[in-house]
Amino acid sequence: MLELTDVTKQYRVGEQTVRALDGISLRIEAGEFTAIVGPSGSGKSTLLHLLGALDSPDSGSIRFQDKEIGDLDDDRQSEFRRHRVGFVFQFFNLLPTLTAWENVAIPKLLDGTGLRKAKPRALELLELVGLGDRAEHRPAELSGGQMQRVAVARALIMDPPLILADEPTGNLDSKTGASILQLLADITKEGNSVVMVTHDMGAVRYCDRVINLRDGLIGSIDRVERADDGA
Ligand code: ADP
Ligand code: ADP
Repeated sequence: MLELTDVTKQYRVGEQTVRALDGISLRIEAGEFTAIVGPSGSGKSTLLHLLGALDSPDSGSIRFQDKEIGDLDDDRQSEFRRHRVGFVFQFFNLLPTLTAWENVAIPKLLDGTGLRKAKPRALELLELVGLGDRAEHRPAELSGGQMQRVAVARALIMDPPLILADEPTGNLDSKTGASILQLLADITKEGNSVVMVTHDMGAVRYCDRVINLRDGLIGSIDRVERADDGA
């Protein structure tokens, strides 16, 4: 699904250049749940941003379903993000004035679909994440775990092949976090790929592979035997 070859990214800060990624090569297959771990400053966020076409590499290639995405212009990057990627964040990023189902429908609205037309699929996805009875609730009326479930449903509404999650359990207690990880693991059974940046070492047991970053380089890639609490 995704293939990175010799990807580098550096930032210029004043006179200094920081090498955030220093020649990364890796493949991510369809249906794989991948964790990216590593110390602060090792390049995790930079890598996630490149995978989601939020930013472009300085050199190297990023191929997504056999198409180069590393050199897209801004409009094409935006188009790629809208249709190919679902994002899940640490702090959920829900709009407080909208109900759960309206939050789920937002990517459809941004893509020009009317709210009413998007509703059936939004309700279906809330059902899928176990919140069928919370569709009319606003974020303030939901627990952290429920808000993250809404965010996962929102990430799925465009049917993207790739879900990128940035510390999805970082703001949840460990039991609630585990249920979100199980939900992400379940999603990959439909063939979606999930790539997650995490500090939570308990999270890696839900994954197929763990990529350890260190100073912008891949220190190791470990294959994990998934512990499946679900079906
Ligand atoms: P991590 O997510 O593992 O903490 P990052 O990808 O955020 O690592 O950062 C990798 C390196 O790049 C760090 O040295 C960081 O300071 C630097 N960096 C990240 N983003 C920027 C930026 N926008 N401008 C300048 N330096 C940055
Ligand atoms: P544009 O405004 O360029 O059309 P969008 O803002 O619609 O792009 O972004 C498309 C997707 O990328 C959205 O799902 C959004 O959540 C995600 N996104 C945009 N900016 C960021 C960011 N800085 N960090 C993480 N995800 C982002």
